[in-house]
Amino acid sequence: MKIKNIILIIITVLVLGVSVSQGHSDIWYCPMHPNYTSDRPGQCPICGMDLVKKIEAPAQQKSTVEGYAVISVQASKQELIGVRTTIVTKNKGAIIVPRDAVMDTGARKIVFVQKDEETFEPREIQTGREADNGYEVISGLKEGEHMVVSGNFLLDSQSRMQASLEQGG
Ligand SMILES: [Zn+2]
Repeated sequence: MKIKNIILIIITVLVLGVSVSQGHSDIWYCPMHPNYTSDRPGQCPICGMDLVKKIEAPAQQKSTVEGYAVISVQASKQELIGVRTTIVTKNKGAIIVPRDAVMDTGARKIVFVQKDEETFEPREIQTGREADNGYEVISGLKEGEHMVVSGNFLLDSQSRMQASLEQGG
């Protein structure tokens, strides 16, 4: 368990650590395909839509989960660690999240919600019964939100690390 955590932290530092201190230059992105970015204005090669300039958001979002920070991960890094999201939908009146989307600490269950193309917010969810395909969500997620279903363990690690850095000053 200990060794696994240490390895995870090392991977996190290697993969994500650099992005924390790196300054951004201007970035344009496609509103329909936020993973497509360019360093200059133009059109999206997938849908032809005009690219939109990314506004740097200095306003730090506050995490609602103690010990977890809202994190920013560049699109290229997301690709590297295999971040995938899905839109939260209701099925027969219930929101079901796949098991892989949930970081279960034992005391609580954490999912990550993508707020914009680079921002991920940790959420604590309350779950109900366990279904074949995952957990029923009682609270913590809303329909239409973008939930991370893959690559979340590295986001989790990064989020906790950043929270402890912010706390420690
Ligand atoms: Zn597009």
